Parts: sequence; C-alpha cells; structure tokens
Amino acid sequence: MKLILLGAPGAGKGTQAEIFSKLCNIPTISTGNILRAAVKAGTPIGLQAKAYMESGGLVPDDVIMGIMKERLAEPDCAGGYILDGVPRTIGQAEAMEAFGIEIDCALSIEVSDETIIRRMSGRRTCPACGASFHVENAPPKVEGKCDSCGADLVIRADDAPETVKARLETYHEQTEPLKDFYAQRGKLRSVDNQPTIDETTAVIKTALADLL
Ligand code: AMP
Repeated sequence: MKLILLGAPGAGKGTQAEIFSKLCNIPTISTGNILRAAVKAGTPIGLQAKAYMESGGLVPDDVIMGIMKERLAEPDCAGGYILDGVPRTIGQAEAMEAFGIEIDCALSIEVSDETIIRRMSGRRTCPACGASFHVENAPPKVEGKCDSCGADLVIRADDAPETVKARLETYHEQTEPLKDFYAQRGKLRSVDNQPTIDETTAVIKTALADLL
C-alpha cells in the first residue's frame, strides 16, 4: 500500500502512521522527523531547514524532494509506504508525480482548528526516536519518558502556541489544496477525527478496507 496521510499539523497523522505501519508492515516516511534529525545533527540540510521550521513555514520543495528521492530508494520502501507530512504543497505533489512516485490513496484526517490548538498544547515528543505522546490522550507509560527508547520527552519548539497558529495558516494556504489535487485524480478519501486514537484508527480502517 502506498498511502499519503493529509491533515493539519496535530491531526494525528504521525500517531496513525505508526499504527498502520505496524499493521501493514511497511515504513512510514515522515519528512518532519527526517528534518528534525538533520537539524539535531547539524547537517547541511538541517542548517538550511531550521529557520523555516522554527517560524512555522515550509522548507523549500527542492530540499524535500531531495530527501524523498533518497528515502524512497531504500529497499524497505519496495513493498509500499506511508507518507506522513509529505507532500505539503502542490509543487511537491507534482514533483512526486513527475518522478514516478505512485500512490494508492491520499487519506485526509479532518479536524477543526480549535481542536488542533487544544491538542497541540499537550503534545510531547521524543527527541531521540521521534515518537509522539499526549499528556491526556496518549500518555507515556512513565511520565516524561519515551515508551520506545526511554529518552526524556520534550515539547517541540514548533508546538508553541504562536507557531501552531502560523503552522495552521500554512496548512490552509499551501497544503489543504492537495485535497482537490488528489480528489481530481480519484485518490482522495476523508475521515473525521474521533475523540480517541482507537476510534480514529477504526474509521481509517473502514475507509481503507479495500486496500488493507
Ligand atoms: P511535521 O512534523 O510534519 O509537522 O513537520 C515539522 C516542520 O517541518 C513543518 O512545520 C515544516 O517546517 C517542515 N516540513 C516537514 N515536512 C515538510 C514538507 N513536506 N515540506 C515542507 N516543509 C516540511
């Protein structure tokens, strides 16, 4: 299965990507996680991306496409993949098509801005492995520690309230038009965000039933 997860920042794409990766035994490619690792390691891509990320804007399309081409060429992508947070612009979607990157479905998780703002304030992220938790909805087993690797959890700099507002604006302006882009290609499916992670997983399973 080649799946794109669409949705505002904080819609639960990362959480659901992780669940469906395990279920389908395919990797998730999260450009956000790849970029955060690059920033942390101080690589040339990281140095280029840092300021865009901290302001709530988008990293330039050519940087993202460079990352994608390299990552999708890895052998673990041969049997399918879940794209979390990419494409983020029509330019990226067109570049992916031009490069022959195929997808079966773009699944949009629909959530109101109000819910996003409330939710992002409780998000905690593992700086070591990228896993995501929430103080109320998905707390780690040990407070403040990552379930997967035990590292101390942090609040992402770009989850600060003013940056969240900027990221939502960026989403509506630059990423939401992708819904039409994939609808025109007959690839768009949508689900409404549900009160719990499990319920959202259930509606996604129903929406993707013929592909799972
Ligand atoms: P995310 O973890 O997906 O919310 O990404 C965090 C930040 O990384 C975003 O706010 C952007 O600045 C940057 N980023 C991640 N993926 C992309 C992408 N496909 N295109 C442009 N910027 C991206």
